[in-house]
Amino acid sequence: MAQSVKGTRDLFGNDVRWFQHIEETARRVFQRHGYEEIRTPILEEIEVFKRSVGESSDIVHKEMYDFMDKGNRHVCMRPENTAGVVRAAIQHKLLINNDPRLLFYVGPQFRYERMQAGRYRQFWQIGAESFGVASPESEAESLLLLFEFLRELGLRHLQLSINSVGTAECRPAFHAAIRTFFEARQERFCADCHRRIQENPLRVLDCKVPGCQEALEGHPLIVDHLDEASRAHHERLKALLTAMDIPFVENPRLVRGLDYYTRTAFEVLSSDLGAQSALLGGGRYDGLVKQLGGPETPAFGWAIGLDRLAILMQALHGDAPVEAPAVLIPLGDAATLKAFELVRQWWAQGCRVQLETRNANLKKGMTSANRLGAKLALILGDGELEKGVIAAKDLAAGTQEEWPLEEVAERLPR
Ligand code: AMP
Repeated sequence: MAQSVKGTRDLFGNDVRWFQHIEETARRVFQRHGYEEIRTPILEEIEVFKRSVGESSDIVHKEMYDFMDKGNRHVCMRPENTAGVVRAAIQHKLLINNDPRLLFYVGPQFRYERMQAGRYRQFWQIGAESFGVASPESEAESLLLLFEFLRELGLRHLQLSINSVGTAECRPAFHAAIRTFFEARQERFCADCHRRIQENPLRVLDCKVPGCQEALEGHPLIVDHLDEASRAHHERLKALLTAMDIPFVENPRLVRGLDYYTRTAFEVLSSDLGAQSALLGGGRYDGLVKQLGGPETPAFGWAIGLDRLAILMQALHGDAPVEAPAVLIPLGDAATLKAFELVRQWWAQGCRVQLETRNANLKKGMTSANRLGAKLALILGDGELEKGVIAAKDLAAGTQEEWPLEEVAERLPR
């Protein structure tokens, strides 16, 4: 028997109900702030990620689902959505004159990752991107949107960590400082860190190997090497967060996995998630639009993992709310014809009712209604047809009543 591919999973029942609830909440909150949805293809040319996420990042280096297609194009299944959104925004000239442009997406991403709890090879992300504005105020707006979304989901025990990774101008001075620090204790760092210190020294700071984290004790701080404008930017963002009552901590080792961040980088952790505590991450990426061939455009955004959000919702709230449908079971040809007439009216009025179409006998119909978890079975046989009523059986209570046909619609769940 065929099984789902390792690292992928089928979503149904309670899982899909949590996904739907989270997506509906996101759409409601985002649209209220002026964010518009964008849907980009899962397949992109590999260059989109090489030139954005960066060849030295783990994602491009080790985790891409890439292949040559039948036309000999080197394509990949997107490992994240920001680069695709930027590619699309440039292609369709959505970014002109640095007008503010707010976009969001919801969709699956693919990374060939080592398997762990809460980590999949196909996973979903919801992301918000704000283009055209370089100010800390645009970051504060985006973070306020994020926290409104999380609050509407009823999430608690969240911690916002922020850092500034500076700009291309001030980074060389920090790179020099971290290299000097690294060289003095290089034997304590892992092989990956030896590669990172050459290719992208910032990434040494967020190595997950405990020995490397210990060796970093007393490392030089990026915030001590910021240029004046980046420092003022960082201070202003902190003041805005405080004014908005969004608590945060500063994490000088937070650099994020992707190459394209400038100035603000942040993560939100959840203590309810255990080891996989990072719920989301994001930051400013002022250089990315230009890097992908577009006009110079400042940008800020974040992506949250839908799979982890769903795990958290389950842990905090139990099963997703569900309104079990009613099932209409007609018995015999005449009742079936009448049943079609009735469900057409009920559906048009927004009622939730499932029609049994197997020409089933009562026993078979009731058995599947119970297995489906229906709360209500509506039985229409010749006797009911003659009287103009329906037999309504409450499947939880086991009680049965007769309802006049014209009253059924108002008693059905919507
Ligand atoms: P990233 O794009 O790596 O910054 O990830 C942003 C968020 O996406 C993370 O905080 C997770 O919630 C989620 N995420 C990333 N990779 C995975 C994965 N392999 N499985 C499930 N969720 C993931």
